[in-house]
Amino acid sequence: MLRIVAIDDDPCDQAIVARALRSYDDLSLNSYSHPQEALDAEDEPPDLVLLDFEVPGLAEFEPFEMIHRNWPQVPVLVLTGNEDLKVYRQAIQAGAHDCLCKNELLPTQLMRCIYNTLERHKLQQELRTRACSDALTGLPNRAAIVLELEQRFAQGTNREPFCLLFLDIDDFKLINDGYGHDVGDQYLLEFVKRAQACLGTHDILARFAGDEFVVLLHGCADDSGVSDFVGCLEDSLNIPIMIDGNELYTAVSIGVVADRSDYEDYKEMLLEADTAMFAAKSRGKARYVWFDAHMRAEALERLSFEHSLRHAVECRELQLLYQPLVDISTGYVDGFEALMRWTRPDGVVPPLKFIPIAERTGVIHRFGRWAIETACRQASQWRKLAPELTISVNVSPVQLEHPAFTEAVFESLRRHNLPPEALTIEITESGAIKEFDSAVGILTHLRKAGLSISVDDFGTGHSSLSQLHKLPVTEVKIDKSFVHAMADQTDYSRLFVETIHVLAGSLGLTTVAEGIETQEQRQLLLDCGYNRGQGYLFAPPLAATAATECLKRSIDSQATAPCHLPNVVGTSKLVSSTAELSVHD
Ligand code: C2E
Ligand code: CA
Ligand code: CA
Repeated sequence: MLRIVAIDDDPCDQAIVARALRSYDDLSLNSYSHPQEALDAEDEPPDLVLLDFEVPGLAEFEPFEMIHRNWPQVPVLVLTGNEDLKVYRQAIQAGAHDCLCKNELLPTQLMRCIYNTLERHKLQQELRTRACSDALTGLPNRAAIVLELEQRFAQGTNREPFCLLFLDIDDFKLINDGYGHDVGDQYLLEFVKRAQACLGTHDILARFAGDEFVVLLHGCADDSGVSDFVGCLEDSLNIPIMIDGNELYTAVSIGVVADRSDYEDYKEMLLEADTAMFAAKSRGKARYVWFDAHMRAEALERLSFEHSLRHAVECRELQLLYQPLVDISTGYVDGFEALMRWTRPDGVVPPLKFIPIAERTGVIHRFGRWAIETACRQASQWRKLAPELTISVNVSPVQLEHPAFTEAVFESLRRHNLPPEALTIEITESGAIKEFDSAVGILTHLRKAGLSISVDDFGTGHSSLSQLHKLPVTEVKIDKSFVHAMADQTDYSRLFVETIHVLAGSLGLTTVAEGIETQEQRQLLLDCGYNRGQGYLFAPPLAATAATECLKRSIDSQATAPCHLPNVVGTSKLVSSTAELSVHD
C-alpha cells in the first residue's frame, strides 16, 4: 500500500487530487491544509508527499523546507497553480523530485508523475548507498557520516542526544608496512566485527578514513554510555587478532564529545572529537579522552607552531651555534659541534622541543640540509685558520630515509671544497638502533666516502658496542649523564665510562666526552683515558663570530705557550655549569 500525504490549503485543489487518485486502490491518501498539520497527525513518514508550494502565512519554499527537515527521506512532488517554467525549475532546485501544474491535473498524468517520482527516489537512494558505503568494510563511509550528522543538526535542538567518538587504531601503519596490505585489510575487517559487537541497535559505526572510525552512540549524553562501549571494545581487543598465523594486538586512541546545543555545525563537533583523539595519542595511546576547551587552544597553538616551523628556514630564523671540541688536557680547539637554534619573535625554542616536531612533519629534511650546508660553509672558513679542524653535525635518523640525503651531503662538501674527513655525522645511539636497517646502508656509504660517524648520547640507548660495531661507526660520544655521575663514588658510571673507552679502543673507535662542566670531571676523564671532549667548562655553544674568536685564541696560545686554561673562551667569560652563553651573530 502506497501511503501518500497531500498538503494544500485550497479545499477545491484537495478535492481534485482526491478525485484523480480515487480509481487507484493500492494507495492511501491523507490530505492536510498545512505542513505542520501533516507532521503532527502522521505517526510515520509517508511514502510520498504531494505539496502545494504556496501556503498562506509561510514564506516561499518554507513548506518544502518543513517537510524536508522532518521527513528527509521522503520524496516530494510539488503541485503548483503557476504554469511558469521558472517555478518548476525552482522546485527541482530546492530538492523536489518533480513538479506538476494543477491546471492540467489528469488522473493518469498525476499517477505517472507519482511513479516517476518514486522511481527517481529509489535510484537516488541506491546511488547514495553506493556513494556512502565503504568498499572494504561495507560500513557507512565519511560521506555517509557527514550526511547523518547534517541531518541530525538540521533538526536543531530537537535532536536526540548522542555522543561522537573518533577512533584511531594505534600503530596500524606497522601492521600494514610489516605484513602487507592484505593482512591490514583482514585486520580492519576483524576490528570492525569486534567494534560492531559492542554497539546498540541505534548506534552507528562508520569508517572515516584508513584506520580512523567514527561511532555515534545514540541517546548517550555522558560518560556512562561511553565507558560501556569502550570497556567492551577494549575487552574484545585484549584477545589478539589472528591472521595467517600472526598474532596481532590492537589498541585504539579515542576522542569523545557529547552533542551540545551551542555547536554551530557538525564540523565543529567532529573537529573537537578529532582533537580529543589527538590528545589521547599524545597521552600515550590506548585510551579514550573527553574533549575539553583547553585542547582547542593547544591544537591551534600546535598548528601555528608547526606552521611557523615550516617557514623557519625562509624566515632566516634558524641559526647554528658551535660548541668547541677540545683536547681535554690542553683545552686546544680541534673541532666544533654544530647545534641548531630556532629564534622565534617571542624567544628561542630549544632543539629538544622543535626537532621531534620537525621529524614528525618531515620539515627535518629541509632543516638538515640547511644545517649541513651552513656547517660546511663555516668549516671551510675555519679550515683556512686550522687546516685539520673538523665539524660535527647532528643528523636525525628520519633524515637518513630521504633518498637525496647522501647526495646533499656530498654536494655541500663539494661546494665548499671540504674534504670528507672534515665532516662528522652524529647520530644518537637510540636513533641508530631504532632505524638500524635504513641507517646501516646510508652510513656505510658516507663512511666509505671518508666521513666520520659518531654515535651520540652513547649509553642511553641500551645497545651494546658489538651491536653498534655492525654500523660503520668511527667515534663513540659518551652521554653527559655518565660524565656528570662519575664524581659520585657509589655510582658505577666511572667504571662504565672507563670500560667504554677500553672497549671502543679495542674496536678501533675513538671516544669523546660531552657535558664536561667541572675540573673534577675533566680530571676523571683524563684518568679514564679520554683526551677529547666538550662542555661548559671549556665553552658553551657559541655564535659563529664568537666561535671564530675562540678558535683564534686557541691557535694563538698554541703558538706562544701550551694552554693551561681549560676555558677556551677566556677566563672573563667563564660560564656557569647550567647557563648557556647567549651570543648572537
Ligand atoms: P646533543 O647532540 O647531545 O648536544 C649536546 C647538548 O648538550 C646541546 O644541547 C648542548 O648545548 C648541551 N651542552 C653542551 N655542553 C654542556 C654542558 O657542559 N652541560 C650540559 N648539561 N649540557 C651541555 P642543545 O643544543 O640544547 O641540543 C640538544 C639536542 O638537540 C642535541 O643533543 C641534539 O640531539 C639535538 N640537536 C641539536 N642540533 C641539532 C641539529 O642540527 N639536528 C638534529 N637532528 N638534532 C639537533
Ligand atoms: Ca650531538
Ligand atoms: Ca650528546
